[in-house]
Amino acid sequence: MIRSEILREIAPVIRDHLVVCNIGIPSQELHAIDDQPTNFYMLGTMGLASSIGLGLALAQPKKVIAIDGDGSVLTNLGTLPTIANNPADNYILLIIDNGSYGSTGDQPTYAGKKTSLTAVAKACGCDNVIECRAEDTKKVLEEALAGDRMTVIVSKCESGNAKMPVITLDPVVIRHRFMEAVKA
Ligand SMILES: [Mg+2]
Repeated sequence: MIRSEILREIAPVIRDHLVVCNIGIPSQELHAIDDQPTNFYMLGTMGLASSIGLGLALAQPKKVIAIDGDGSVLTNLGTLPTIANNPADNYILLIIDNGSYGSTGDQPTYAGKKTSLTAVAKACGCDNVIECRAEDTKKVLEEALAGDRMTVIVSKCESGNAKMPVITLDPVVIRHRFMEAVKA
């Protein structure tokens, strides 16, 4: 399974929640599969989906799902101790770990080599870290949403991208409709 197949499976589960999505092809895929005003697409901030998601979860009570990638988490590795030490039980970080920098040509990341982001998240102090197969992501995510505990999910999948159009929505529109969804 590749990332777009995971996104297709979880789309009905995340549709009614606030979602902050990783820059590049992940956001293009989610936008094409199931665009929602509750989706906040990163258009220029590699590595910051998990940080923005945490801040949003701490600032208001609705559940927040950040969909991040292994390359982006490695780019902003300081996010994991920040998440661990500022727990928000309405926050789920879903790291779709395909072992590659998908948006720049599938170059391998260290998460696809010797570095386990699951082990890193645990070592940083995240209490509830679940590594799963791509096929189990939907079930694990549903269970995390049913619980009231901050959860980090590391979904191990294959490298590869779906051919999706770029997002033509104006960033101001994406921000505005997302802010309205947060307030609704
Ligand atoms: Mg990746």
